[in-house]
Amino acid sequence: MESKLLRNYCKTIAKRFRFLFMVVEFDLHCHSTRSDGTFTPEQLIFEAKRLGLKGLGIVDHDVLPSKELISLAHSSSIPVLCGIELHCDDCNDVLHILGYGVNEENEEIASILEIQAEREHSRLRGLVENLNSAGMKLDFENDVVWRAKGRSVNYLDVFDALFEKKHFNNFYALKDFLDAPDCKLMPSIVFPSSEAFIRAIHSQGGLAVLAHPLALNKETRKQKIKKAIKLGVNAVELNYPYVANGYSPSSFDDDDFAFLRELVKASGLLVSGGSDFHGSVKGRVRMGLAGIGVKEFSKIAGRLKL
Ligand SMILES: [Zn+2]
Ligand SMILES: [Zn+2]
Repeated sequence: MESKLLRNYCKTIAKRFRFLFMVVEFDLHCHSTRSDGTFTPEQLIFEAKRLGLKGLGIVDHDVLPSKELISLAHSSSIPVLCGIELHCDDCNDVLHILGYGVNEENEEIASILEIQAEREHSRLRGLVENLNSAGMKLDFENDVVWRAKGRSVNYLDVFDALFEKKHFNNFYALKDFLDAPDCKLMPSIVFPSSEAFIRAIHSQGGLAVLAHPLALNKETRKQKIKKAIKLGVNAVELNYPYVANGYSPSSFDDDDFAFLRELVKASGLLVSGGSDFHGSVKGRVRMGLAGIGVKEFSKIAGRLKL
């Protein structure tokens, strides 16, 4: 019995610190103030250099890389891949897809984003109404919308309003509260189809990456990962710090990592990785906590014709 407990304890520790032993040279999954991060793109690049990383990926949610961002990336002394992250398909078991090598001229993605911004706005308005009913008083226009300052309103604007009103004091506590099975405050939403999004990424010569696949529900995970591969994702994020990002260590094990590695190899896919750095929003995730080495990066860069 004791040895079983010890074995489980060691497994949990191994999961938590798996990424401390990885050589990370490129962190391809970072968010900036263009969506829900707290670092500007300039600050992200500065931080990457300060940490000694050899390159970086900026993949903000629901916003295509602008001309300014792309020219900033080009002027950087380290490679900076610009892209986008989009939630797709079933809102109860969301597929997160990253698209690198796309820009604002991609009309297909732009129209997907326009529809999505309206849906997200309505969903967050609904969330604020539900929070009010639960006794957490917020005014959608006066406490939330102004925080977006030109970009689309996102969940973080609601989170910041809740922090300011002292209903919660940190991201993880609030996320756990909203994600709890008996908490029904977050209205459901229809996300765009992964098929349409992947097709739109490819139409511009971009690279589609399945992000943090082990965050998918354990029951349907394998089926959804295989579906994403069938739809044409070019790479899978094999290296990702799940526990630091708030996912329970009990939701994946070594067999899941082995399954993924074998599937990626058998399907001839590229390997990607990144920390999902958001700055101070998710205090447990530092830049470079996960990522890839120069060998994997050069394959991605080659596919993007960089
Ligand atoms: Zn994600
Ligand atoms: Zn992300």
